Amino acid sequence: MSLFGAIEAGGTKFVCAVGTNPNDLRNEIRFPTTSPDETIGRALAYFKEQAANEPLDAIGIAAFGPLDPTPNSKTWGYITTTPKPGWANTDFAGLLQRELGVPVGFDTDVNGAALGEHRWGAALGLDNFIYLTIGTGIGGGGLMNGKLMHGLIHPEMGHILLPPRSDDPSPGGFCPYHGHCLEGMANGPAIEKRWGARAETLPPDHPAWELEAHYLATGLASLICTLSPQRIVMGGGVMEQLHLFPLVRQKTQALLNGYVQSPAILEQIDGYIVPPGLGNRAGILGAIALAERTANGE
Ligand code: ADP
Ligand code: ZN
Repeated sequence: MSLFGAIEAGGTKFVCAVGTNPNDLRNEIRFPTTSPDETIGRALAYFKEQAANEPLDAIGIAAFGPLDPTPNSKTWGYITTTPKPGWANTDFAGLLQRELGVPVGFDTDVNGAALGEHRWGAALGLDNFIYLTIGTGIGGGGLMNGKLMHGLIHPEMGHILLPPRSDDPSPGGFCPYHGHCLEGMANGPAIEKRWGARAETLPPDHPAWELEAHYLATGLASLICTLSPQRIVMGGGVMEQLHLFPLVRQKTQALLNGYVQSPAILEQIDGYIVPPGLGNRAGILGAIALAERTANGE
Protein backbone atom coordinates (compact mmCIF):
# COMPACT_ATOMS: atom_id res chain seq x y z
CA MET A 1 0.00 0.00 0.00
CA SER A 2 1.35 3.44 -1.00
CA LEU A 3 1.65 6.42 1.29
CA PHE A 4 1.75 10.01 0.02
CA GLY A 5 2.89 13.35 1.40
CA ALA A 6 0.97 16.56 0.70
CA ILE A 7 1.63 20.27 0.99
CA GLU A 8 -1.03 22.92 0.57
CA ALA A 9 1.28 25.91 0.19
CA GLY A 10 -0.69 29.12 0.63
CA GLY A 11 0.46 32.71 0.77
CA THR A 12 -0.43 32.96 4.45
CA LYS A 13 -0.10 29.38 5.71
CA PHE A 14 1.28 25.96 4.86
CA VAL A 15 -0.58 22.73 5.59
CA CYS A 16 1.37 19.44 5.46
CA ALA A 17 -0.03 15.94 5.87
CA VAL A 18 0.49 12.33 4.87
CA GLY A 19 -2.17 9.87 3.79
CA THR A 20 -3.90 8.19 0.90
CA ASN A 21 -7.49 9.50 0.63
CA PRO A 22 -10.17 11.55 2.46
CA ASN A 23 -10.64 8.82 5.08
CA ASP A 24 -6.94 8.45 5.66
CA LEU A 25 -5.28 11.82 6.16
CA ARG A 26 -2.82 11.83 9.04
CA ASN A 27 -0.53 13.95 11.18
CA GLU A 28 -1.61 17.25 9.66
CA ILE A 29 0.40 20.31 10.68
CA ARG A 30 -0.03 23.99 9.87
CA PHE A 31 2.39 26.86 10.10
CA PRO A 32 2.56 30.43 8.80
CA THR A 33 4.25 31.19 5.48
CA THR A 34 7.34 33.20 6.46
CA SER A 35 10.66 33.24 4.56
CA PRO A 36 11.21 30.48 1.98
CA ASP A 37 14.16 29.05 3.95
CA GLU A 38 12.23 28.78 7.17
CA THR A 39 8.94 27.66 5.63
CA ILE A 40 10.30 25.07 3.20
CA GLY A 41 12.72 23.99 5.94
CA ARG A 42 9.81 23.20 8.25
CA ALA A 43 8.05 21.20 5.54
CA LEU A 44 11.26 19.29 4.81
CA ALA A 45 11.83 18.46 8.48
CA TYR A 46 8.23 17.26 8.78
CA PHE A 47 8.50 14.88 5.82
CA LYS A 48 11.87 13.55 6.99
CA GLU A 49 10.25 12.66 10.29
CA GLN A 50 7.21 11.08 8.59
CA ALA A 51 9.35 9.10 6.16
CA ALA A 52 11.42 7.77 9.06
CA ASN A 53 8.23 6.14 10.41
CA GLU A 54 6.87 4.93 7.09
CA PRO A 55 8.38 5.54 3.64
CA LEU A 56 6.57 7.93 1.31
CA ASP A 57 5.96 7.01 -2.34
CA ALA A 58 5.58 10.57 -3.60
CA ILE A 59 4.80 14.09 -2.47
CA GLY A 60 2.31 16.51 -4.00
CA ILE A 61 2.64 20.27 -3.67
CA ALA A 62 -0.29 22.53 -4.55
CA ALA A 63 1.13 26.04 -4.25
CA PHE A 64 0.41 29.73 -4.63
CA GLY A 65 2.05 31.13 -7.72
CA PRO A 66 2.91 32.10 -10.30
CA LEU A 67 5.04 28.98 -10.52
CA ASP A 68 6.70 26.75 -13.07
CA PRO A 69 4.87 23.38 -13.47
CA THR A 70 6.51 22.47 -16.80
CA PRO A 71 8.52 19.22 -16.61
CA ASN A 72 12.01 19.55 -18.11
CA SER A 73 11.99 23.32 -17.70
CA LYS A 74 15.15 24.63 -15.98
CA THR A 75 12.99 26.27 -13.37
CA TRP A 76 10.47 23.42 -12.90
CA GLY A 77 9.34 23.41 -9.29
CA TYR A 78 10.07 27.08 -8.71
CA ILE A 79 7.79 29.78 -7.41
CA THR A 80 8.60 32.31 -10.13
CA THR A 81 7.49 35.94 -10.35
CA THR A 82 5.39 36.23 -7.21
CA PRO A 83 5.15 39.65 -5.58
CA LYS A 84 5.28 37.86 -2.20
CA PRO A 85 8.39 39.25 -0.47
CA GLY A 86 11.37 36.89 -0.59
CA TRP A 87 9.65 34.20 -2.64
CA ALA A 88 10.38 35.24 -6.22
CA ASN A 89 12.51 32.63 -8.04
CA THR A 90 12.47 30.12 -5.21
CA ASP A 91 13.30 26.47 -5.85
CA PHE A 92 10.65 24.54 -3.95
CA ALA A 93 9.70 21.15 -5.42
CA GLY A 94 13.19 20.39 -6.74
CA LEU A 95 14.70 20.95 -3.31
CA LEU A 96 12.24 18.56 -1.65
CA GLN A 97 12.76 15.98 -4.38
CA ARG A 98 16.55 16.07 -3.93
CA GLU A 99 16.46 16.08 -0.12
CA LEU A 100 13.79 13.39 0.26
CA GLY A 101 14.64 11.21 -2.74
CA VAL A 102 11.01 10.70 -3.80
CA PRO A 103 9.11 12.00 -6.85
CA VAL A 104 7.38 15.33 -6.26
CA GLY A 105 4.30 16.57 -8.14
CA PHE A 106 4.09 20.35 -8.34
CA ASP A 107 1.16 22.43 -9.50
CA THR A 108 -0.97 25.46 -8.73
CA ASP A 109 -3.19 25.46 -5.65
CA VAL A 110 -6.24 25.52 -7.90
CA ASN A 111 -5.09 22.70 -10.18
CA GLY A 112 -4.43 20.72 -6.99
CA ALA A 113 -7.89 21.44 -5.60
CA ALA A 114 -9.39 20.59 -9.00
CA LEU A 115 -7.64 17.23 -8.94
CA GLY A 116 -8.94 16.53 -5.43
CA GLU A 117 -12.48 17.34 -6.58
CA HIS A 118 -12.00 15.07 -9.60
CA ARG A 119 -10.73 12.18 -7.48
CA TRP A 120 -13.14 12.38 -4.52
CA GLY A 121 -15.41 15.43 -4.74
CA ALA A 122 -17.81 17.42 -6.90
CA ALA A 123 -16.13 16.69 -10.25
CA LEU A 124 -15.99 12.93 -9.94
CA GLY A 125 -15.51 11.31 -13.33
CA LEU A 126 -15.47 14.56 -15.33
CA ASP A 127 -12.63 15.03 -17.80
CA ASN A 128 -13.42 18.68 -18.56
CA PHE A 129 -14.23 21.01 -15.70
CA ILE A 130 -12.89 24.02 -13.85
CA TYR A 131 -12.31 24.80 -10.20
CA LEU A 132 -12.29 28.44 -9.13
CA THR A 133 -11.33 29.89 -5.78
CA ILE A 134 -12.74 33.25 -4.74
CA GLY A 135 -10.69 34.34 -1.75
CA THR A 136 -7.75 36.69 -1.18
CA GLY A 137 -7.12 36.18 -4.88
CA ILE A 138 -9.14 34.55 -7.64
CA GLY A 139 -7.59 31.59 -9.38
CA GLY A 140 -8.81 28.82 -11.61
CA GLY A 141 -7.57 25.44 -12.70
CA GLY A 142 -9.04 22.21 -13.89
CA LEU A 143 -8.88 19.30 -16.23
CA MET A 144 -9.13 19.37 -19.97
CA ASN A 145 -9.44 16.04 -21.75
CA GLY A 146 -8.48 14.39 -18.46
CA LYS A 147 -5.23 16.31 -18.06
CA LEU A 148 -4.48 19.16 -15.68
CA MET A 149 -4.60 22.44 -17.56
CA HIS A 150 -1.17 23.82 -18.33
CA GLY A 151 0.08 25.54 -21.43
CA LEU A 152 2.43 28.42 -21.90
CA ILE A 153 2.63 28.46 -18.08
CA HIS A 154 -0.69 27.80 -16.35
CA PRO A 155 -4.10 29.44 -16.61
CA GLU A 156 -4.68 32.76 -14.85
CA MET A 157 -8.45 32.70 -14.88
CA GLY A 158 -8.68 35.36 -12.18
CA HIS A 159 -7.17 37.97 -14.47
CA ILE A 160 -9.62 37.89 -17.36
CA LEU A 161 -10.75 41.46 -17.99
CA LEU A 162 -14.28 42.55 -17.20
CA PRO A 163 -16.24 45.68 -18.08
CA PRO A 164 -17.07 47.66 -14.92
CA ARG A 165 -20.80 48.05 -14.31
CA SER A 166 -22.04 51.64 -14.47
CA ASP A 167 -23.36 51.62 -10.88
CA ASP A 168 -20.15 50.17 -9.39
CA PRO A 169 -18.89 52.62 -6.72
CA SER A 170 -15.32 51.48 -7.58
CA PRO A 171 -15.36 51.01 -11.35
CA GLY A 172 -11.56 51.12 -11.65
CA GLY A 173 -11.15 47.85 -9.76
CA PHE A 174 -8.25 46.90 -7.52
CA CYS A 175 -5.86 44.62 -9.41
CA PRO A 176 -2.43 46.29 -9.42
CA TYR A 177 -1.86 44.94 -12.94
CA HIS A 178 -5.25 45.31 -14.62
CA GLY A 179 -7.62 47.31 -12.44
CA HIS A 180 -10.93 45.76 -13.49
CA CYS A 181 -10.09 42.11 -14.06
CA LEU A 182 -12.18 39.40 -12.35
CA GLU A 183 -9.83 39.32 -9.34
CA GLY A 184 -9.64 43.13 -9.19
CA MET A 185 -13.44 43.35 -9.13
CA ALA A 186 -14.53 40.33 -7.15
CA ASN A 187 -11.93 38.93 -4.73
CA GLY A 188 -12.46 39.29 -0.99
CA PRO A 189 -10.23 42.38 -0.66
CA ALA A 190 -12.09 44.10 -3.56
CA ILE A 191 -15.39 43.63 -1.72
CA GLU A 192 -13.81 45.03 1.44
CA LYS A 193 -12.31 48.07 -0.31
CA ARG A 194 -15.47 48.83 -2.30
CA TRP A 195 -17.88 48.66 0.65
CA GLY A 196 -15.56 49.52 3.55
CA ALA A 197 -16.20 46.33 5.53
CA ARG A 198 -14.87 42.79 5.42
CA ALA A 199 -16.93 40.55 3.13
CA GLU A 200 -17.81 38.16 5.94
CA THR A 201 -19.50 41.00 7.88
CA LEU A 202 -21.86 42.09 5.07
CA PRO A 203 -25.45 40.78 5.48
CA PRO A 204 -27.00 38.73 2.66
CA ASP A 205 -29.27 41.61 1.62
CA HIS A 206 -26.34 44.05 1.19
CA PRO A 207 -26.02 45.38 -2.40
CA ALA A 208 -22.43 44.05 -2.42
CA TRP A 209 -23.67 40.56 -3.19
CA GLU A 210 -25.77 41.37 -6.25
CA LEU A 211 -22.78 43.19 -7.78
CA GLU A 212 -20.41 40.42 -6.70
CA ALA A 213 -22.65 37.82 -8.36
CA HIS A 214 -22.75 39.95 -11.50
CA TYR A 215 -18.95 40.02 -11.81
CA LEU A 216 -18.59 36.34 -10.99
CA ALA A 217 -21.24 35.44 -13.57
CA THR A 218 -19.54 37.65 -16.18
CA GLY A 219 -16.30 35.75 -15.55
CA LEU A 220 -18.09 32.40 -15.72
CA ALA A 221 -19.83 33.27 -19.00
CA SER A 222 -16.41 33.95 -20.60
CA LEU A 223 -14.93 30.77 -19.16
CA ILE A 224 -17.90 28.69 -20.34
CA CYS A 225 -17.57 30.10 -23.85
CA THR A 226 -13.81 29.53 -24.04
CA LEU A 227 -13.35 26.23 -22.19
CA SER A 228 -16.74 24.50 -22.42
CA PRO A 229 -16.42 22.96 -18.93
CA GLN A 230 -18.82 20.16 -17.99
CA ARG A 231 -19.08 21.64 -14.47
CA ILE A 232 -17.78 24.62 -12.51
CA VAL A 233 -16.76 24.13 -8.87
CA MET A 234 -16.48 27.37 -6.86
CA GLY A 235 -14.67 27.48 -3.52
CA GLY A 236 -12.73 29.95 -1.35
CA GLY A 237 -13.81 32.13 1.55
CA VAL A 238 -16.15 34.39 -0.41
CA MET A 239 -18.18 31.41 -1.68
CA GLU A 240 -18.95 30.47 1.92
CA GLN A 241 -21.76 32.97 1.32
CA LEU A 242 -23.94 30.21 -0.07
CA HIS A 243 -26.67 32.68 -1.09
CA LEU A 244 -24.27 33.71 -3.88
CA PHE A 245 -24.77 30.40 -5.70
CA PRO A 246 -28.39 30.91 -6.82
CA LEU A 247 -27.59 34.51 -7.82
CA VAL A 248 -24.51 33.50 -9.81
CA ARG A 249 -26.39 30.67 -11.55
CA GLN A 250 -29.28 32.91 -12.54
CA LYS A 251 -26.98 35.69 -13.82
CA THR A 252 -24.79 33.28 -15.74
CA GLN A 253 -27.86 31.89 -17.51
CA ALA A 254 -29.06 35.42 -18.24
CA LEU A 255 -25.69 36.53 -19.65
CA LEU A 256 -25.37 33.45 -21.87
CA ASN A 257 -28.92 34.17 -23.03
CA GLY A 258 -29.70 30.66 -24.24
CA TYR A 259 -26.77 30.54 -26.64
CA VAL A 260 -24.89 27.59 -25.12
CA GLN A 261 -27.42 24.86 -25.85
CA SER A 262 -26.81 22.36 -23.09
CA PRO A 263 -29.36 21.05 -20.58
CA ALA A 264 -26.62 21.43 -17.95
CA ILE A 265 -26.95 25.20 -18.32
CA LEU A 266 -30.52 25.59 -19.54
CA GLU A 267 -32.21 23.16 -17.15
CA GLN A 268 -29.84 21.79 -14.52
CA ILE A 269 -27.69 24.73 -13.58
CA ASP A 270 -28.00 23.89 -9.85
CA GLY A 271 -25.78 20.89 -10.57
CA TYR A 272 -23.53 22.81 -12.97
CA ILE A 273 -22.21 25.64 -10.77
CA VAL A 274 -21.53 23.98 -7.42
CA PRO A 275 -19.57 24.29 -4.15
CA PRO A 276 -16.60 21.95 -3.59
CA GLY A 277 -17.53 18.43 -2.51
CA LEU A 278 -14.45 18.33 -0.28
CA GLY A 279 -15.18 21.72 1.32
CA ASN A 280 -12.10 23.33 2.76
CA ARG A 281 -10.15 20.04 2.50
CA ALA A 282 -9.98 20.32 -1.32
CA GLY A 283 -6.50 21.87 -1.10
CA ILE A 284 -4.72 19.30 1.03
CA LEU A 285 -6.56 16.34 -0.55
CA GLY A 286 -5.73 17.76 -3.96
CA ALA A 287 -2.06 17.62 -3.01
CA ILE A 288 -2.54 13.95 -2.04
CA ALA A 289 -4.17 13.31 -5.43
CA LEU A 290 -1.27 15.09 -7.12
CA ALA A 291 1.20 12.84 -5.30
CA GLU A 292 -0.80 9.79 -6.35
CA ARG A 293 -0.72 10.89 -10.01
CA THR A 294 3.00 11.51 -9.76
CA ALA A 295 3.62 8.09 -8.22
CA ASN A 296 1.67 6.57 -11.14
CA GLY A 297 3.92 8.41 -13.58
CA GLU A 298 1.10 10.67 -14.86
P1 ADP B 1 -7.05 32.56 1.04
O1 ADP B 1 -7.56 32.98 -0.30
O2 ADP B 1 -6.16 33.58 1.65
O3 ADP B 1 -6.49 31.18 1.04
P2 ADP B 1 -9.84 32.58 1.84
O4 ADP B 1 -10.28 31.72 0.71
O5 ADP B 1 -10.50 32.39 3.17
O6 ADP B 1 -8.28 32.47 2.06
O7 ADP B 1 -10.04 34.08 1.37
C1 ADP B 1 -9.93 35.17 2.22
C2 ADP B 1 -10.83 36.28 1.70
O8 ADP B 1 -12.17 35.80 1.67
C3 ADP B 1 -10.83 37.52 2.56
O9 ADP B 1 -10.89 38.65 1.70
C4 ADP B 1 -12.10 37.41 3.39
O10 ADP B 1 -12.66 38.68 3.66
C5 ADP B 1 -13.01 36.60 2.49
N1 ADP B 1 -13.83 35.68 3.29
C6 ADP B 1 -13.40 34.70 4.13
N2 ADP B 1 -14.43 34.05 4.71
C7 ADP B 1 -15.56 34.64 4.21
C8 ADP B 1 -16.96 34.42 4.42
N3 ADP B 1 -17.41 33.49 5.25
N4 ADP B 1 -17.79 35.21 3.73
C9 ADP B 1 -17.35 36.15 2.87
N5 ADP B 1 -16.06 36.40 2.66
C10 ADP B 1 -15.17 35.66 3.31
ZN1 ZN C 1 -5.58 41.27 -12.73
